[in-house]
Amino acid sequence: MERVFLSSPHMSGNEQKYIQEAFDLNWIAPLGNNVDGFEKELSEYNSINHAAVVSSGTAAIHLALKLLDVQPEDTVFCSSLTFVATVNPVLYEGATPVFIDSEPDTWNMSPVAIEHALVDAKRDGNLPKAVIVVNLYGQSAKMDEIITVCNRYNVPVIEDAAESLGSEYKGQKSGTFGQFGIYSFNGNKIITTSGGGALVSNDEESIQKARFLATQARDPAVHYQHSEVGYNYRMSNIVAGIGRGQLEVLDERVNQRRSVFNNYYEAFKDIQGIEFQPELKDTRSNRWLTALTINPEKAGITRNDIIHALDEQNIEARPVWKPMHLQPLFEGCKYYSHHNNESISDQLFENGLCLPSGSNMSEETQDKIIKLILDLLPTD
Ligand SMILES: *Cc1c(COP(=O)(O)O)cnc(C)c1O
Repeated sequence: MERVFLSSPHMSGNEQKYIQEAFDLNWIAPLGNNVDGFEKELSEYNSINHAAVVSSGTAAIHLALKLLDVQPEDTVFCSSLTFVATVNPVLYEGATPVFIDSEPDTWNMSPVAIEHALVDAKRDGNLPKAVIVVNLYGQSAKMDEIITVCNRYNVPVIEDAAESLGSEYKGQKSGTFGQFGIYSFNGNKIITTSGGGALVSNDEESIQKARFLATQARDPAVHYQHSEVGYNYRMSNIVAGIGRGQLEVLDERVNQRRSVFNNYYEAFKDIQGIEFQPELKDTRSNRWLTALTINPEKAGITRNDIIHALDEQNIEARPVWKPMHLQPLFEGCKYYSHHNNESISDQLFENGLCLPSGSNMSEETQDKIIKLILDLLPTD
């Protein structure tokens, strides 16, 4: 029995055409027409002026922090409920993360907690160099509220839209709200290049600087001159070809993932103790992963019961991300919860579950997963 993954690559069939073009032109090496084409098409799709495609989403976050001049003595505020890749680049620069809780309406950064953290930071004369806001599982954070409070303190926002490419907030594409947005094309994301990422911005100068930093920071001289540290972060022309083929079907993939979500929703919506990650009014989630919480007292089963039962059938399900403020790596880091005595991300981690959500999952597979879960529920 083949393993069913949370999210697996789903090719369009056109990727090979773009790769073949690169071979025909013998343009295998970094940069070239696919890189230029992918950057242009990705910017157009998101209605943003500029994009630099790079080797990973993590590299894109790192470049954003470099562009905002994050230094070792600085702090960076960051959503706690996320994948570690959001925060690792803060450590690359030797800076200190401060973690911000989620709120219940989106599972993303709490505008209340971020304001609290900024008030304290201002009082202590230690405002952060940047705020990194994550859009979990495709659902956009409360961008208006978060951007408003960050603007009040003049702190730039980096939008980690690694999971929310194709999602919308008030009709505007996810990833285009902060000074910088980042996307990921890792193998498990809604579209993939096998590995890759992008940094987007409306500021042309910043994106040009990002491209410079991502190609070893070469000064304009024939003799390879360097005045600052650079990185080898550019996306290759072959990989960008995969991206162009994938971008053509992004909207289709969003609809497919939303339909997977709807099937789960219809099956479980009336079950006591099961709550789905909400979709905030005036937003459209790409539903990258269907995420829900299981209240064991009300549902009569635990999140882990479901994970184990599915695993026995070779089906992958996982808890929601373990919050960063609970990770050994970030022991001792400051954390601001949504309410004084209530941490939303702790609760989501305790009972939260992600179900297989691939756009290429068959109806039969999905029906089987739904039936396995329904069979676990107590009959009364
Ligand atoms: C996947 C992911 C990243 C990192 O992207 P890579 O391309 O794997 O480096 C960053 N943030 C979040 C929230 C992610 O899910």
